[in-house]
Amino acid sequence: MSERVGRVREVTSLANPLVKDIKALALKKFRDQQNAFMAEGLKLVIDALDLGWSIRTLVFAKSALGNAAVEKVAARTVAAGGTVLEVSEKVLSAITRRDNPQMVVGVFAQRLQPLKSIRPAGDDVWIGLDRVRDPGNLGTVIRTADAVGAKGVILIGETTDPFSLETVRATMGSIFAVPVARATAEAFLEWRKGFPGLVAGTHLKGAVDYRTVKFEGRPTLLLMGNEQQGLPDELAKSCDRLLRIPQAGRADSLNLAVATGVMLFEIRRSALTLEPGGME
Ligand code: SAM
Repeated sequence: MSERVGRVREVTSLANPLVKDIKALALKKFRDQQNAFMAEGLKLVIDALDLGWSIRTLVFAKSALGNAAVEKVAARTVAAGGTVLEVSEKVLSAITRRDNPQMVVGVFAQRLQPLKSIRPAGDDVWIGLDRVRDPGNLGTVIRTADAVGAKGVILIGETTDPFSLETVRATMGSIFAVPVARATAEAFLEWRKGFPGLVAGTHLKGAVDYRTVKFEGRPTLLLMGNEQQGLPDELAKSCDRLLRIPQAGRADSLNLAVATGVMLFEIRRSALTLEPGGME
């Protein structure tokens, strides 16, 4: 590493306390204690810095020494008051629990959007996820929300952690671009009373074909049910419409993230192409 980047510590031991703290971030308990999480990959770390996320530690592989982009990120980390660790591949593998780890890992402060600060307007689309359990599903929904230009994701009830390694990996960097809020079912239902647009739930027994709804000209809150149980009655009752995606074949339902993707692209398509006066 060049002279420009001071404060780089070289670490080769798994017993190093800084490394131990980062390794501990694999567990939710320690992520919450440290209010931190890990993201792997140079591009992700650059995107996160560009989007104003606060970096605590940058870890990079010895083999990345001399890489201009890595040096630049290291300098930005130091300028932001963070620590830079140059580590062996063995340490990187242990931190990320991967045999072939990325050469750069960033540790960032967690950030959630307070539910009360969400004030939808215009054609804003928000997604509510009821008790989502699977990190791959949550990460994929966050990534898809980003791709479709949705405003953010609200996690309702006990859900998988948006800051776990698995979820962050599945978001492919969208964790840094899409605001995430968390709420109990009670707090969500209270907030929902003030929602100024259409609350569209999805349900296998939904009475309305999702292709017949007019989404434009008002905010939409798309409410998706838990992987095993679907939407509970109290959340289903709070919806203006319960929508069904018609299926053929023997599968009794779609995967949660797939159903969310189908809905989100329909909402965007409909908002762009439906004539006023389309079915509500
Ligand atoms: N056994 C669950 C049930 O009875 O609802 C299946 C849940 S499904 C795996 C997860 C969520 O994806 C559902 O709660 C719903 O929000 C959405 N979903 C999946 N397939 C759907 C479909 N064909 N129509 C509407 N929503 C669907």
